[in-house]
Amino acid sequence: MSPLYCEKFRIPKHLEIADGAVVPAPVGEQPMMKTGNWRIERPVIDHEKCTTCLNCFIFCPDSCWHLDPKSEKMVWDPIYCKGCRICVEECPADALRLENELNFKGGVARLDKPY
Ligand code: SF4
Ligand code: SF4
Repeated sequence: MSPLYCEKFRIPKHLEIADGAVVPAPVGEQPMMKTGNWRIERPVIDHEKCTTCLNCFIFCPDSCWHLDPKSEKMVWDPIYCKGCRICVEECPADALRLENELNFKGGVARLDKPY
């Protein structure tokens, strides 16, 4: 775990574990793995309600949420978010809602060649 998370949750040094896993993949394969263009809805965050509990970071299957150390706010990654809504279901503060991609000017559904 990153020092930021260990510090936030006061995880003792001996209980720290490494982030994620190493998945061998040829360089250049990543563009083929972008899943943002599957999305028909996107999670939208209400920073007033967000308690930075990190549930969305933990549950997102594509690691699309992270805590920005400067602003101390959760940041979303549109390139890999497939709109599965897991983060919305797992948010204990009701800080996430889904909104249709068509409601956004650059929404995936509006792009000729999304990502
Ligand atoms: S799960 Fe909800 S409250 Fe927790 S960090 Fe994510 S948006 Fe914020
Ligand atoms: S909708 Fe799914 S893929 Fe997108 S951020 Fe939430 S959990 Fe991750």
